[in-house]
Amino acid sequence: MIIAERKPIERILQMIEPYQKIAVLGCRGCVAICSAGGDREVETLASALRLARKKQGKPLETIEETYVRQCDPEYLKPLAELKEKVEAVVSLACGVGVNLCADLYPDLKIYPGVDTTFYGANPALGEWEEKCRGCGDCIIDLTGGICPIARCAKNLLNGPCGGSQNGKCEINPDTPCVWQEVYDRLKARGELDRLTKIWPAKNWIPAGYGGPRRRVRPDLQINNKKA
Ligand code: SF4
Ligand code: SF4
Repeated sequence: MIIAERKPIERILQMIEPYQKIAVLGCRGCVAICSAGGDREVETLASALRLARKKQGKPLETIEETYVRQCDPEYLKPLAELKEKVEAVVSLACGVGVNLCADLYPDLKIYPGVDTTFYGANPALGEWEEKCRGCGDCIIDLTGGICPIARCAKNLLNGPCGGSQNGKCEINPDTPCVWQEVYDRLKARGELDRLTKIWPAKNWIPAGYGGPRRRVRPDLQINNKKA
């Protein structure tokens, strides 16, 4: 899922400084699961903003809503009505959601209430770990299901680097060297032969360095053509 965390309240207060009435808009997708932008966080942020503004002597009125997903136009139809009731919206969706809301309603003053940080897993309560960078050319069949792009500090495809010590990464003694992990896993699986391939320089265009990526599935576009 996409991991996000709420921006400092001072930063959000700066964004909404000119306004007297705003909406705080949550999303029940990834940001709700990682406790950054679901119903509970919408309520908490709206209340904190109102309190802070009251202390500043500039009371703020809020409307609180949470949509199923802000990254899908299907669920953004109510925004047409909401935007007429407020001067601005603080969205607690990830950057994808905020971008889509702004594209669909260009006159809407919408501001990000969270920082979108990475694609991660939730290995334990209250912990999230980066696992993938969405590089568009997955190679973890050769690394025991461990992503060296997301999990190696130097994104090495032919690791480890010279700084790997006792199974730890040189950037931080608490961080495992991912290439040690790859080696250990492949060895345990009897698949060390998968490490004999030397990777050439990676083509980073599928990873997004050739401009924004887009995927089209004509077989799913029947309804678009009818419309
Ligand atoms: S190789 Fe690319 S697609 Fe596969 S897990 Fe790593 S970043 Fe994600
Ligand atoms: S020590 Fe291992 S994880 Fe750290 S940068 Fe070097 S190869 Fe990558």
